[in-house]
Amino acid sequence: MINKELKILGISKANLGTSTGTKQFAKGKFITSYSPVDGKEIAQVQCTTKKEYEKVIETAQQAQLSWRNIPAPQRGEIVRQLGDKLRQLKPTLGKLVSYEMGKSYQEGMGEVQEMIDICDFAVGLSRQLYGNTIHSERPGHRMYDQYHPLGIVGIISAFNFPVAVWSWNAALALVCGDVVVWKASEKTPLCAIACQQVLAEILKQNKLPEGISSLITGDAEVGNWLSEDKRIPLISATGSTRMGKEVAVKVAQRLGKTLLELGGNNAIIVTEEADLKMTLIGAVFGAVGTAGQRCTSTRRLIVHEKIYEQVKKSLVDAYKQLKIGDPLDSKNHMGPLIDQDAVAMYSKAVQSIKAEGGKILVKEEVLKGKGYESCCYVRPVIAEVENHFAIVQAETFAPILYLIKYKGDVENAIALQNEVAQGLSSAIMTTNLRQAEIFLSQNGSDCGIANVNIGTSGAEIGGAFGGEKETGGGRESGSDAWKVYMRRQTNTINYTTSLPLAQGIKFDF
Ligand code: NAD
Repeated sequence: MINKELKILGISKANLGTSTGTKQFAKGKFITSYSPVDGKEIAQVQCTTKKEYEKVIETAQQAQLSWRNIPAPQRGEIVRQLGDKLRQLKPTLGKLVSYEMGKSYQEGMGEVQEMIDICDFAVGLSRQLYGNTIHSERPGHRMYDQYHPLGIVGIISAFNFPVAVWSWNAALALVCGDVVVWKASEKTPLCAIACQQVLAEILKQNKLPEGISSLITGDAEVGNWLSEDKRIPLISATGSTRMGKEVAVKVAQRLGKTLLELGGNNAIIVTEEADLKMTLIGAVFGAVGTAGQRCTSTRRLIVHEKIYEQVKKSLVDAYKQLKIGDPLDSKNHMGPLIDQDAVAMYSKAVQSIKAEGGKILVKEEVLKGKGYESCCYVRPVIAEVENHFAIVQAETFAPILYLIKYKGDVENAIALQNEVAQGLSSAIMTTNLRQAEIFLSQNGSDCGIANVNIGTSGAEIGGAFGGEKETGGGRESGSDAWKVYMRRQTNTINYTTSLPLAQGIKFDF
């Protein structure tokens, strides 16, 4: 099914595991990657041992000493080559993402496009990385701040964006003069090996040293080695809030830096003045896209009572038309969940909705029979609930959409939206400027992303991406997110023959 693509991507029996570039390590235990599309084994991948990990970090440290001395625009040139290669490989890598992770082929290619976009962004950035000049209070003094590379960046990533999250971090970190060590999700190891191979080949062609980009494989234990390692100044971790809390504590204990991209509980507010056609498309794509396994998936729809019944009816009708099946077949709207554990979580969540008094409008079902052999395909659910239900307050990583009614002003809807622990993405559907501006004001959405007349998912790379509260507070990708990958230094230069002290302090002898 995917052998041709694996070959084109440079994956062979010789590189199914840990790598510092051209060197591979192969002493660890095996994990198996199964496709949720058809349940078949794709390959067995070898996990990193502690000894191999030590070798990887020593190699990365050495590599950083030379990489940081290569001028940033020349580092950008390497990232440009990565972007160009990804352009060529887009359909191939997109197919692997779709087959190993289960998202639609369109979304798989979209993910590779995000990688290309961040490479383009990083290339431009490599000629910027601006500091400020500051006017000194002392005569004959000049002040400025500048940004230096940090060192090794440890990247821990989730299964649902198995290639894009690495590139958001790696493209920026590399132009910033850092080297990267990536612990990818144990559920999508082949996507990670493919990315590592593509970049390793470019680094080799440019005669750059081993260790600028490394891949370590395995589960939480291997991720934890990164968190505890004081040689790694920044850990960028994407995944569940549970994972983020563990990583944050470990990294804080050694006073390292974290960039945390954790769970969301995203809502769309639909006011009585919304364009309902746009609302329907935004809500359905947001809820069932990637089978509800995006951190920005729409989980709650907070709808004004005046249009509630109408919205409910059109959603239920739309869900009846959804086709579920092989994500590589463009006729299907929704593919599988990542694995059978995820299916069990979906079923358990539906039980909790019922137990708390929610009303199921579109019924749950685990699909069986031809085309569903992996047992990972489920029917997307719509449920009428109250915002305070424990199950609604939690992020269930599955296609379950909660309908919540609000009365009165938009402020009431905003209060409901903000009454969850997570703060990633939010949206309002309205044609009323006043409602939109209240939503975007300091009294409005408390999320890192707040959209008007767009759904909650599908961010562009030009903006900083991330969220508040239990989403972790990190920002990656565009805007000035690059600053976290560098250390800031303030410089004051005295070009006079005297030594005046700041704050007018006198110190003569
Ligand atoms: P997960 O937390 O189970 O795993 C994520 C990664 O963390 C994996 O590589 C895993 O091996 C590693 N890990 C787990 N525990 C660890 C520990 N104690 N120390 C170090 N590493 C550890 O998440 P998942 O199921 O792969 O992904 C789904 C979650 O990711 C959802 O909550 C989703 O919202 C979140 N997510 C967030 C963003 C974002 O940008 N905010 C993006 C994608 C996914």
